[in-house]
Amino acid sequence: MNKQQEFALRTIEERDIRFIRLWFTDVLGQLKSVAIAPAELEDAFEEGLGFDGSAIEGLTRVSEDDMIVRPDPTTFQVLPWRGGPQGTARMFCDVLTPEGQPSLGDPRFVLKRTLEQAKDMGFTFYVHPEIEFYLFEPQDDYSKPPVPIDAGGYFDHVPRSSGMDFRRAAVNMLEQMGISVEYSHHEAGPGQNEIDLRYADALAIADNIMTFRTVIKEVSLERGIHASFMPKPLAHQPGSGMHTHLSLFEGDANAFYEAGQEFNMSQTARQFAAGIMNHAAEITAVTNQYVNSYKRLWGGAEAPSYICWGHNNRSALLRIPQYKPGKGNSARMEFRGLDPVANPYLAYSVLLAAGLDGIKQGMELGEPTSDDVWELTDLERQAMGIQPLPDSLDTALKVMEKSDFVASVLGEHVFEYFLRNKRKEWEEYRMQVTPYELQEYLPRL
Ligand code: GLU
Ligand code: MG
Ligand code: MG
Repeated sequence: MNKQQEFALRTIEERDIRFIRLWFTDVLGQLKSVAIAPAELEDAFEEGLGFDGSAIEGLTRVSEDDMIVRPDPTTFQVLPWRGGPQGTARMFCDVLTPEGQPSLGDPRFVLKRTLEQAKDMGFTFYVHPEIEFYLFEPQDDYSKPPVPIDAGGYFDHVPRSSGMDFRRAAVNMLEQMGISVEYSHHEAGPGQNEIDLRYADALAIADNIMTFRTVIKEVSLERGIHASFMPKPLAHQPGSGMHTHLSLFEGDANAFYEAGQEFNMSQTARQFAAGIMNHAAEITAVTNQYVNSYKRLWGGAEAPSYICWGHNNRSALLRIPQYKPGKGNSARMEFRGLDPVANPYLAYSVLLAAGLDGIKQGMELGEPTSDDVWELTDLERQAMGIQPLPDSLDTALKVMEKSDFVASVLGEHVFEYFLRNKRKEWEEYRMQVTPYELQEYLPRL
């Protein structure tokens, strides 16, 4: 029994915790949970807890369905929304095969494996996500557009609004769970909000994003509000992204910083950015995994549609933000493609691996774009060598299917499962006759 395991067991006793939830994530980024009694925990630490893996999306083939979850004691937290004398705690788990090997279908393992590569190259990978979401009135009939809870806009102070109360309650709950929040504000759309988590290593942040989604859902249920991370819930309003700031550290030093270079970018930063530019199209199905994700990417309102980078350019896929002089350790790049319903473990794996590949291969970064790339003509973009991002899930899957790079990062098991699942989603969508078609065509055709 190590110190962290002992701490968990002691806290459970002192705080009279009655249920321990073991959390893990399926390939699509859905949170899974199984509750155990405190008496079972010591065994769960030692041997793990068996469960039927074939029931979990993408975990196993039916023939090898016995799987094991083993809780990671460093993630032990009491759940604040299950307070009272008989509380509940949770831990994230690693998923193992019956032989005790990491399960190849466990997204947390995919990220750990990729972080290991960064470590072998001498780097730690830090990220900080800006998570956008909408708050809607509750609704029963999902065939109608949702109704935002307020009419506020970017940074609006909406006095006595339920949005502000909501943010305060959510931030409090996150802080109680040890998740530091850096900013929270009203976003550009009516009822749209953003909460930015303080940077940490990518595994902790991926776990925190899973917790964040749960916290937001809990707070919204408490308040009779419907919170949604859907990338583009309203056709004529901005979508919700999950811009993520990325940086590599070598020990205490930010490896992206070099004073005196263009935008203070080190050679490592340029190669990392080049890697992301280079692999951007292949990884889009992972960073933007739903049919609806592409309505955001191609719906304007500051979502990126083209593969380009720039300094403080909000139309670019990758932005090098300005930071205060002398603050070299804040050097970072903001990837603006990601949306808040991606599987964070897989999304951060492909982003990190793309950047590392740029470093390994010494890739050259092209020219930055200072123009608003949406305003350019196709011809101008072509002349500047700016390629579009995939414009639909179908296109994104076609690019991903041919990618040895993505297959090697995700591993064959996750790669194949993901493609099969997403192909099915596209086929179902493709067969729909939409309200748009009925309204446009029925009256005149
Ligand atoms: N909501 C925009 C998006 O979908 C981002 C707005 C912003 O710059 O924060 O990416
Ligand atoms: Mg924002
Ligand atoms: Mg941003």
